[in-house]
Amino acid sequence: MIMSQRIQCNDIYRTRLGRVLGYCAAILSLSNPVHDISDSSATAAEYLNGVKWEVPAKVSPGKTNADPPADATILFDGKNLDAWHNGNRWKVTDGVAIVGQGEIRTKEEFGDCQLHIEWSAPNPPTGQGQGCGNSGIFLMGTYEIQVLDSYSTDTYADGQAGAIYKQTPPMVNAMRAPGEWNTYDIIWTCPRFNDDNTLKTPAYITAIHNGVVILNHFELKGDTPFHRPPQYENKGDKGPISIQDHGNPVRFRNIWVREIKPIQGEQAREPFIRDGDKETPIAAKK
Ligand code: MG
Repeated sequence: MIMSQRIQCNDIYRTRLGRVLGYCAAILSLSNPVHDISDSSATAAEYLNGVKWEVPAKVSPGKTNADPPADATILFDGKNLDAWHNGNRWKVTDGVAIVGQGEIRTKEEFGDCQLHIEWSAPNPPTGQGQGCGNSGIFLMGTYEIQVLDSYSTDTYADGQAGAIYKQTPPMVNAMRAPGEWNTYDIIWTCPRFNDDNTLKTPAYITAIHNGVVILNHFELKGDTPFHRPPQYENKGDKGPISIQDHGNPVRFRNIWVREIKPIQGEQAREPFIRDGDKETPIAAKK
């Protein structure tokens, strides 16, 4: 008896729920008739681009997004700076590399790449402006994204942390306090040159500072010197990554890089629409 009542109650509930859902569907179809899913012809045809893609390689990611993926080249894991020219003139202690005498420069060279690097401004801060926690990451040994204690000090906008030096400020200032660790995740596209060394396509950079996008596919105007306008010079397809000595004991840790390249595909046939057994090239479709 009790069972029977429960079933009846459930049936009544389902019936009412069905009515409510029916009303909702009717209202939605009136307000948005384009998305009427009862029109089966709208979903039967499939667009195919005709490209035969290579299968993306599998890459095992790190435990966290700060840890190097399986295909990364480790540039500094806290042990030594053997991967760098001049590394013996910087101090490595407690898993951290501290700016010493002169820039360091990777022995290996890289083209288009994804670079992860962590850095910490000196604590307590000393100096002002460009003299406060200044270093820099140079892609291809030439193009600087600024490292500076922009938590403690002000400077010209296109010289602060995350700036492409003298070209653009970062979109926002995502600095952590001196002594805390900052992260740059950088996606770098090399400049390309024609056979006569004129510029074919410029360099681009996207950068994420502590999880915040600060540069979004920014087009570089050339190199980043202090004393003259930027200019491009063909220095080859690849170059080292270097870290600046600007006289401040900035600390670095956990540096790794991955070379990146676009996935390849072959246009095996023209794009077409498949509808059952019928295939219609896009160009011929009215
Ligand atoms: Mg600098």
